[in-house]
Amino acid sequence: MRLPPSQELEMLRRSAAEFVDREIRPNVRQWEQEGEVPRALFTKLAGLGYLGVRLSTQYGGGGQNFWYTTALLQEMMRCGSIGVPVAVMAHAEFATMLIQKGGSDELKEKYVRAACEGRMIGALGVSEPDAGTDVASLRTTAERDGDDYIVNGSKLYISNGTIADYITTAVRTGGPGHRGISVIVIPADSEGLVRKRLQKIGTHASDTAELFFDNCRVPAENLIGQENDGFRLVMSGFEGERLVLSVIACSQARLMFEEARKWGHDRMAFGQSLLNFQVWQHRLADVLTNIEAAETLTYRAIECYVNGEEANSLISMAKLFSTEMALDTARECAQIQGGLSHMEDCLIGRLYRDSLALTIGAGTSETMRGIIARTNDLVGKAP
Ligand SMILES: Cc1cc2nc3c(=O)[nH]c(=O)nc-3n(C[C@H](O)[C@H](O)[C@H](O)COP(=O)(O)OP(=O)(O)OC[C@H]3O[C@@H](n4cnc5c(N)ncnc54)[C@H](O)[C@@H]3O)c2cc1C
Repeated sequence: MRLPPSQELEMLRRSAAEFVDREIRPNVRQWEQEGEVPRALFTKLAGLGYLGVRLSTQYGGGGQNFWYTTALLQEMMRCGSIGVPVAVMAHAEFATMLIQKGGSDELKEKYVRAACEGRMIGALGVSEPDAGTDVASLRTTAERDGDDYIVNGSKLYISNGTIADYITTAVRTGGPGHRGISVIVIPADSEGLVRKRLQKIGTHASDTAELFFDNCRVPAENLIGQENDGFRLVMSGFEGERLVLSVIACSQARLMFEEARKWGHDRMAFGQSLLNFQVWQHRLADVLTNIEAAETLTYRAIECYVNGEEANSLISMAKLFSTEMALDTARECAQIQGGLSHMEDCLIGRLYRDSLALTIGAGTSETMRGIIARTNDLVGKAP
């Protein structure tokens, strides 16, 4: 399935493809080993306008819709690492988008502009050791003290956590439950903030961290929107985040399919290529059918989202189906490569490991099923 016909989208796609070939693909192995993408990547992406495609033109962004993010992501995924686009998206689409959505003009001038220009890197801090899926029970507190908030608590699994200059952070400013939550921008050089990089089994190029706040003083003007109105803001950001993961999943699956098809033609066993065996023709036919189905659902969800229609249910379906599909595809494509798929340098092996995070991040598959059930009258009494 193709993106909507547009010369501008095509131009973005072509220049992004060249950039990925020149600046990203040759370096992926090194970044995977180092556990992070370099700051220079953000600067270079900013130079081409790729860091803020959906951010406001008023603050240096491109002011485009999600189809542009889709085209950019699809090309970035051709680098063969999920960690690279995750690092870029955690900055632009996750952390900075919330500031754009609810922040004051001053906050946008300071952080959204710096984000678009690649001068600052952002991270989004919502998950905690005792509150992942259940965001409404988060415990990190921010207590007002004069012109500041004093933040105490911790955040877990935060993408860009150790390389970020600011963390868009969900905190508790009021009573229990979702009504006591606010969002505040915490500068990474704030006193009382300690960051620890986590060792993961996949998405190695994306740095993931645990953050500890010990009487961390943050200016009150860094609050995004109204106090205790942050839950709505965090939830509104999830739609874009889930679409990002859906597009990554579809692109990753296609990459693995192409690799498996090539391998299936080239690899000889018992005097013939693997794809001469009908079992592999059928298995890869199933893989391709599922990729097409996931792309079609994802594009339909994007279409609704871009048109401003109610898209929560479709986005949840797209995220659920495409990320589970990517994991299934990884297993099939790894199987046809035999022992090779278990080697460190194998593309399918790397993407297999990486795909494990897709059914977890930005809301698990169980969370997606819960939303689909709630928004389609599957819960409680008959409507
Ligand atoms: C690589 C990676 C990057 C991440 N980046 C970020 C980031 O940048 N910022 C951020 O804030 N977070 C980030 N996360 C965290 C992610 O959003 C959480 O891991 C996710 O929301 C799940 O929370 P949890 O891990 O605490 O699992 P839990 O919430 O403890 O859930 C554990 C299991 O129980 C299931 N479960 C929970 N509640 C229910 C229920 N009511 N019914 C049925 N099943 C249920 C879940 O689906 C899951 O299978 C990242 C995670 C990963 C792996």
